[in-house]
Amino acid sequence: MAARKTTSRKPQAKKCLDCDGTGEITETVRVGSARKPRDTDDRQAALCLTCFGSGDAPTD
Ligand SMILES: [Zn+2]
Repeated sequence: MAARKTTSRKPQAKKCLDCDGTGEITETVRVGSARKPRDTDDRQAALCLTCFGSGDAPTD
């Protein structure tokens, strides 16, 4: 009987789902008025506000 091998467990915090653990998100740059916003092809990196850049899912 083979014992079920588990790879070393990670007691680490779960990674943030919003940024996939990177701590950064990419958002589309919008121009124009609030009434008629227009997406551009430009993307900018922004700090993930869910984990504040740590990449770890917040615990409560
Ligand atoms: Zn995040």
